[in-house]
Amino acid sequence: MTTPYEVYAIRYARHEARTARMNFIGGDAHDGPSPLDFFVWVVRNDERTIVVDTGFDAATAAARGRALLTPVGEGLAALGVDPAAIEDVMVTHMHYDHAGNHDLFPTARYHLQDAEMAFCTGRAMTHAPLRHAYGAPDVTAMVEKLFDGRVVFHAGDDELAPGVSLHLIGGHTAGMQAVRIWTRRGWLVLASDAAHLYANMDEARPFPIVHDVAAMLEGHRTLKRLASADDLVVPGHDPAVLARFPAARADLAGHIARLDEGPVA
Ligand SMILES: [Zn+2]
Repeated sequence: MTTPYEVYAIRYARHEARTARMNFIGGDAHDGPSPLDFFVWVVRNDERTIVVDTGFDAATAAARGRALLTPVGEGLAALGVDPAAIEDVMVTHMHYDHAGNHDLFPTARYHLQDAEMAFCTGRAMTHAPLRHAYGAPDVTAMVEKLFDGRVVFHAGDDELAPGVSLHLIGGHTAGMQAVRIWTRRGWLVLASDAAHLYANMDEARPFPIVHDVAAMLEGHRTLKRLASADDLVVPGHDPAVLARFPAARADLAGHIARLDEGPVA
């Protein structure tokens, strides 16, 4: 087995004006504030550093009414990660909040599911509700990378590197994939949007932006099966992540959490 990886969640943006009915199919009987945080993730050991998702930039934040807290490049720099040196970027899915900042990783390969690229360039995008969370600039930027020879397609579950595998979950989008990582606490799973909030998966209350509800519910089970413990499944947008896991460093509290340590009591 490879050296265990360190895993970091970098919060870069927030959607404050959101209530619980917007985050669950069927709404919420106790509708109250339910903000979403936006993250990218860093997976590294002494042999390699992998970035999971690329976030969005200031222009997209303004266009979508989201608050950009810290540009993604600055968050990476705070961990000593040089984007220009990154060789592998995993894109969990092509939604605007996961696939922007197109020029941040000038030499990286981008790892994507076949099903996701087909979904965001095909018939599904003729439907406004399915198209809404995709941005045409993000999709066309990925097509340009494809023609630059910088996209690696995966069909289903695959190993990205020793101790890092990607898993086709579907549900939220057709090609939604999660990442399983070997850490000192065992197998940790970055769900990304296979589970937006802890409550989506723990209470079987699916998030309403969804391609296939059955696959989303099945995906919640798969995430827990892939992880060594339930608390090692990390949802994609839950503000509780920064509370449950320790800060990467004291000066990064409220910005970057260290997921392979803790959780804090
Ligand atoms: Zn998302």
